[in-house]
Amino acid sequence: MSTVQGEGPSSGQRCAFLRLGGCNLSCHWCDTPYTWDWTGAADTGTAYDPRVELHPMPWRTVYDRLAAMEVPLVVISGGEPLNQQARLRPLIAALTAAGHRLEIETNGTVTPAAALVDLGVRFNVSPKLAHAGDRESRRLRPGALTALAAVPGTAFKFVCRSVGDLDEVATVVAAYGTRPVWIMPEGRTADDVAQGLQELGDEVVARGWNLTTRLHIAVWGERRGK
Ligand code: SF4
Repeated sequence: MSTVQGEGPSSGQRCAFLRLGGCNLSCHWCDTPYTWDWTGAADTGTAYDPRVELHPMPWRTVYDRLAAMEVPLVVISGGEPLNQQARLRPLIAALTAAGHRLEIETNGTVTPAAALVDLGVRFNVSPKLAHAGDRESRRLRPGALTALAAVPGTAFKFVCRSVGDLDEVATVVAAYGTRPVWIMPEGRTADDVAQGLQELGDEVVARGWNLTTRLHIAVWGERRGK
């Protein structure tokens, strides 16, 4: 759909979103469980039906739909899109050749292939902290994080619930060089996000990091398709 990027360095920019199904993590508070949660594992407790949620289609069809939106930026999200990176490459190559900028939202557990990096995609990486629920060996993959940190333009966005989470972020940054850092409050409502920003703001600035809201929540709430 055509919308605006709601989070991170490109926040507010007009864009199209391509949301892919399937994820290799299972964050409790995931706000897109309909992309992967076929058993009701996340906090919503809803077991989504992949036959309803997933719509396989040729990449050329996806290209035509995205191009028709006439937006400068295309954001590929999930789920975990890098699990399908080989299939994404021809689509991304066609979009960049047509003049679009590309961003991929990833959880940082999958190393991007050189063939993808060479296309000039920006990676918005969101490594998951302990409060997401998966064990550390699953959610923090040193090889993938250091590879992503080496790609020019990559940004790291950490979802935080409280000021206490910032020490955990600092540990990840020191271990894997995951800079620049963006801190985003967890929250599914505009009130929760606003409260989180107020709680985190001073300490984020004091640490020399960046702060991001969730603009789409402020504008459209939890409405799917936005
Ligand atoms: S990595 Fe992202 S899509 Fe996957 S479960 Fe966590 S929040 Fe949801």
